[in-house]
Amino acid sequence: MSILQYKKNKLVFGESEFDLSQITKDYEKPIYIYDLSFIKKRFLLMQQTLQDFEIYYAMKANSNLEVLRLLNKLGCSLDVVSGGEIKRGLDAGFLPDKIIYSGVGKTKSELELALELNIRQINVESLPELIRIIKIAKQKKTKASIVLRLNPDVDIQTHPYIATGLKENKFGMELSLLPELIKKIEENSEHLYFKGISLHLGSQMHELTAFNDAILKLKPIFIDLQKRFPDFNVFDVGGGLGIKYEKQEFNYEEDLLKEYFQICSKNLNFKKIQLQTEPGRWIVGHAGVLLAQVQYVKSNMHKDFVIIDSGMNHLMRPSLYQAYHEIWPLINSEDKIMVDVVGPICESADSIAQNRLIAKVTEDDFLVIADVGAYGFSMANQYNLHEFPKEICIG
Ligand SMILES: *Cc1c(COP(=O)(O)O)cnc(C)c1O
Repeated sequence: MSILQYKKNKLVFGESEFDLSQITKDYEKPIYIYDLSFIKKRFLLMQQTLQDFEIYYAMKANSNLEVLRLLNKLGCSLDVVSGGEIKRGLDAGFLPDKIIYSGVGKTKSELELALELNIRQINVESLPELIRIIKIAKQKKTKASIVLRLNPDVDIQTHPYIATGLKENKFGMELSLLPELIKKIEENSEHLYFKGISLHLGSQMHELTAFNDAILKLKPIFIDLQKRFPDFNVFDVGGGLGIKYEKQEFNYEEDLLKEYFQICSKNLNFKKIQLQTEPGRWIVGHAGVLLAQVQYVKSNMHKDFVIIDSGMNHLMRPSLYQAYHEIWPLINSEDKIMVDVVGPICESADSIAQNRLIAKVTEDDFLVIADVGAYGFSMANQYNLHEFPKEICIG
């Protein structure tokens, strides 16, 4: 099964087999296309598998309004990492009580906004942040709901740029800091609801041993704190469940989800516990493609380059993490060429694929880049003052 396929020589996408050539007629600039039916299917599958969990979709993976509205309608909650994302969440119809706020750099005005709205919980990432939250709660004569994000120092074997649960990472707090944190919380109990603990080990987890280790490290802490604090019942196990980019293997990903659930339910089967998870990529990753147009095919003594109108400005993952994305020419052909597919940006890192065998294309043809529903448009920028790509939803 693949979400992209050639049918009678047409490239079709999504559950409804949408013919992608339809949107090339009035083509002006690169287009992200998202399949809402696929997102719905993935969310419902996750909801069904992760019994007793509250699912907080990590908006930074894909913050498209229609995608967010759909997830809200389906009963999903939200994990945000900035004031901008809080506002986008409200625009999409999410109630403040459905929003968790994570991130290491929350500013005063962002925290003020979170407290004014009385969002569900703030995942605190440092002692100075806790002190800042207390100060703002005092000024506003209110009470902040907090969860402590702990860093269990485990290695999930992913790209170093997306690992977040190692001791050298800026995220979360070392377990040795707990006594000091607890003291601060106890001293300021009239301004805090201490709700629980959280972890997030990073992205593209495919091997769950380290995740299991992390849960085991935090479990005794959870048990101890629950005895001491009346509001304490949240165990937020973060996001990071991986997907396959080389080849779409949905069965494999569903098995991974089941294994993830088993690790949680086996280790955290307490009577009084609220389990939370923060998936991003697993829900939306496969649900997006990027359509771009070939501008030139250029050759030198060593290589052939297909230069398209979209690059690291629209899709940063290949340049930032050497990430792999499949490339599907809109028109298939038996005639193949071995090429580097590159963008227009004035950086040598601006490359989408290297030494890739694809159906032969020429000027004005279209290419479709697969599996860009997560961390695609949401990471886009205007470097070199190219325009942002368009986004449309189908399904
Ligand atoms: C990015 C992020 C997530 C989502 O990660 P995925 O790999 O997309 O599932 C969840 N929680 C936090 C705190 C994050 O920063």
